[in-house]
Amino acid sequence: MKLFSIKQWVSRLREQSAQKRNSRSAGRRNFLGKGFLAALGSGLLVGSRNGSAQDSRTTSSSRSTSKVSPDRSDSELSFPQSTEQAWRNLIKEASPEDLYRVLYALPKGGDIHHHLGGGMLPEMIWDVCTDRKRNGGQTFYTRVRISSLELIDVGGARDSRNLSGWVTVANHTYDRLSASVQKDFKPLGDLNDKERRTWMNAMFLDHDGEGRNEFFEYIWNRLGDILQSIDVMLELTVENMKRFGAEGVRYMEIQARFRGWSDAGGNAVTEDEATQRFLERFDQPDAKATGVLVRFQTIVLRFDDDAIQGVEKYFEYTYNHPELWLGINMAGREDDNRGYPSKFTDVYDRMIRKFPGVGISIHAGEAEKKDTHIFDTLRLGATRIGHGINLFRDPPTMQMMRGENFLIEINLISNHLLGYTPDLDEHPFPIYMRQGIPCCLNTDDRGMWHSNMTDEYFVAVTRFNLTWKEMITLGENSIKHSFLDDQTKARLLQEYHSDVTAFQDRLENRGWKSIAKGSKVVTYDYGKKHLKLNLS
Ligand SMILES: [Zn+2]
Repeated sequence: MKLFSIKQWVSRLREQSAQKRNSRSAGRRNFLGKGFLAALGSGLLVGSRNGSAQDSRTTSSSRSTSKVSPDRSDSELSFPQSTEQAWRNLIKEASPEDLYRVLYALPKGGDIHHHLGGGMLPEMIWDVCTDRKRNGGQTFYTRVRISSLELIDVGGARDSRNLSGWVTVANHTYDRLSASVQKDFKPLGDLNDKERRTWMNAMFLDHDGEGRNEFFEYIWNRLGDILQSIDVMLELTVENMKRFGAEGVRYMEIQARFRGWSDAGGNAVTEDEATQRFLERFDQPDAKATGVLVRFQTIVLRFDDDAIQGVEKYFEYTYNHPELWLGINMAGREDDNRGYPSKFTDVYDRMIRKFPGVGISIHAGEAEKKDTHIFDTLRLGATRIGHGINLFRDPPTMQMMRGENFLIEINLISNHLLGYTPDLDEHPFPIYMRQGIPCCLNTDDRGMWHSNMTDEYFVAVTRFNLTWKEMITLGENSIKHSFLDDQTKARLLQEYHSDVTAFQDRLENRGWKSIAKGSKVVTYDYGKKHLKLNLS
């Protein structure tokens, strides 16, 4: 028997461990969370001390070795004065509609603050839910009247919210309802035109003043069974890849639950099966043709009774499934103080000891008043903050976030419609960006705003007079601060830079009119109603 030195032996173990993680079957391997191998995985025993290239973080195919990717490709982009001038001319000369057309065609990098369920437009949901060929053969029913006050189970909730109109269920839930409650429901596909319009309007914030109560408490609940259906969500995700791809987005880092899925018969689908089905769906030709790469973050609802156990499970699952899951997030209204950030310090500390390389992005500062939530959230290990609206009320933390270590995921339209910044001119985003805190633009729950990524850019440009360099840096930041592994990140950055260079060239040499003319824009309710665009 050949004798190995301890160092060789450890090195072999770590190689084997890395190989296993790189294979898809790694998903069923949970032992790494415990004992000696966990210590190896966390770099506690070797590697991190001597800076060895065999450190588990560098041998893993799908984990970033640093928060910010190598600056290698930075040098490929330059911002000549002539491009800035061409950009300024566009802003000065173009109609709002033409500016929108140009922005639609602009390469946009990634949307890295995007909720799976909230990202789906009502018409997309309608199409899939009423097409049995696309939804696994299900029929969806929606509540068109409230004649019975009997409480029912929808999407795991059983409370008075289910007594609101347009709660939508799959046939397997409908079949379990009592006959008197069934009478209140109608198949989605059988609604008349007026009912159909009302159903659509019930799925997004179409009226001024609906705001955060309608959003947090009702719309999500109306979608209960739809969001749990793996068949429906697979199709909707690919539909979104098509729509985001058409407006120049190349990467989506989507927040999604990894558990709680159902098949068309209402049976539970395990998390591993769901992960596998997403990967297989992304491998289909129509998904590949979008040119959009999708990866997921797990998301914990911060005020759930089992939120702390959720962080433990989600951390471990994310670590074990780097083929699809790159990070962990926490969301939920911050005015519900049961989920205050420092409550989670202990569990994040424990998880960080065990599981290296899991990206941490957390919603924080989605509030009007001053608090310590962003500071406390950085303490949890977050390198990205979702929203950060009240950061400017906390100067020491704001100072700390300057530089390259952190990013704020800005969601302008979300903050507008949920009433956190009713006047978008007052949004702190340009202050952060121009004081050296990396930012990017994102869509959050665009399905419920009825908007798209171009709307976010349009708002940013028209309200805050962005320079060309600022525009491009936003897209670049979305890739640099993503939780992708270094290789993929470098590839996406390179592609982004070459797309931007081609766009710059066109803007400067052929003029904005040529870009506007060739841009086949799609805009939605937010663009028409709030941005007053007349593009049809
Ligand atoms: Zn969010």
